[in-house]
Amino acid sequence: MIGAGHAGGRAAEAMRALGFAGRILLIGDEPHLPYERPPLSKELLQGKAETFRPMRDAAFWAENEIECRLGCRAAAIDPAARTVTLADGTRERYDKLLLATGAAVRRLAVPGADLGNVFYLRTLDDSRAIDARLEPGRKVVVIGGGFIGLETAASARLRGCAVTVVELADRLMARCVLPEISKTFLDLHRAQGVDIRLDTGVERLEGDGAVARVVTSGGERLAADLVVIGVGIVPDTALAESAGIAVANGIVTDEYCRTSVPGIFAAGDVTSHFNPLYGRHIRLESWQNAQNQAIAAARVMCGEETPYAEAPWMWSDQFDAKLEVAGMPERWDDVVFRGDPAGGAYMIFQLEAGKLVGILSVNQPRDMRFARRLLQTGKPADPAALADSGASMRDIAR
Ligand SMILES: Cc1cc2nc3c(=O)[nH]c(=O)nc-3n(C[C@H](O)[C@H](O)[C@H](O)COP(=O)(O)OP(=O)(O)OC[C@H]3O[C@@H](n4cnc5c(N)ncnc54)[C@H](O)[C@@H]3O)c2cc1C
Repeated sequence: MIGAGHAGGRAAEAMRALGFAGRILLIGDEPHLPYERPPLSKELLQGKAETFRPMRDAAFWAENEIECRLGCRAAAIDPAARTVTLADGTRERYDKLLLATGAAVRRLAVPGADLGNVFYLRTLDDSRAIDARLEPGRKVVVIGGGFIGLETAASARLRGCAVTVVELADRLMARCVLPEISKTFLDLHRAQGVDIRLDTGVERLEGDGAVARVVTSGGERLAADLVVIGVGIVPDTALAESAGIAVANGIVTDEYCRTSVPGIFAAGDVTSHFNPLYGRHIRLESWQNAQNQAIAAARVMCGEETPYAEAPWMWSDQFDAKLEVAGMPERWDDVVFRGDPAGGAYMIFQLEAGKLVGILSVNQPRDMRFARRLLQTGKPADPAALADSGASMRDIAR
């Protein structure tokens, strides 16, 4: 496995659980054992570092004879010879190779972005570096009002920082949610004292060695002790591309996690995978996909031909609100509300030709679990029943 993150770690573990008895080598360029990333912007930044655990402890990998070669980058793949060359010059042979290289943060191309105390948030080390600087009264400017930016803003605010979020679009999380949800989270952040600037770009960052202010597109100068940039990620496909593996907005895989090159598979954020539910390739950036696509890849690598075909789902925790997003609709002809947005707990269903194609949920985790089943099965859904908060979601999904 190349990439010892969530997908790489999970796939290695799953192969052993499925009875694979051969050698498993997990190659990761981070110095840490595989871990899951969701706590990095939540618990860890809220000062609860003691709750953090890697996916499995060192004893687990040793007992399961999974070799973890950490702090070491895979530099090249030779598909003809079936070898991987590592950055330290060593070469490893493979019969099957999984690419789980994930994604890298998108860099903000403005002057001053390389000043001190300017951070991105992707790794455990990033999170620890930000955590160490979150003290009450510190001025934190978050660039980007997407999931990572807003979770960081909420955590910093809970630590007593003075937080400003700068977002280029006219609403929050515009790429993934409907305007009503953007509004709910705008109101929530503002009520908690986060200063949110919409329709605002960043011209440059200024400071002498360390950042001191963010100059916006409107010419405003926002004082900053710390800047966190969350403007998206790009799939880490360079290694695959140089090995001649097909790449198009991610490593292209079929529903069996197979890449265009025999013997090489891929899973997690790095893939653009064919999803049979949608009849098209999709690229996801979510815990569920890292987890379940990795397990699906492990099955196929062990010889089980089961396709990976799941309706996408992801969540975000900001202050006391849990946002969940399921499905990936390109279009819909009906929108149904269940519950009242003003009450802080509601769902929005997107339907097309009588079928559920997308769900957004705020603080409705139980109903969301049942609604996701309905989304996965693709059975027709009755809009009137969906809208009726008194009707059991469990019964509707049956
Ligand atoms: C702060 C944060 C919070 C998140 N919160 C949520 C959430 O609440 N809900 C949700 O659904 N999702 C969340 N996610 C998304 C989720 O964590 C990712 O989708 C998931 O981590 C993807 O797993 P992956 O294994 O594909 O990639 P990664 O976890 O990125 O792992 C890839 C690993 O491969 C390594 N690597 C890359 N190239 C090489 C190479 N050539 N050689 C060796 N190693 C290499 C990378 O350094 C990295 O360690 C969050 C992500 C972040 C960053």
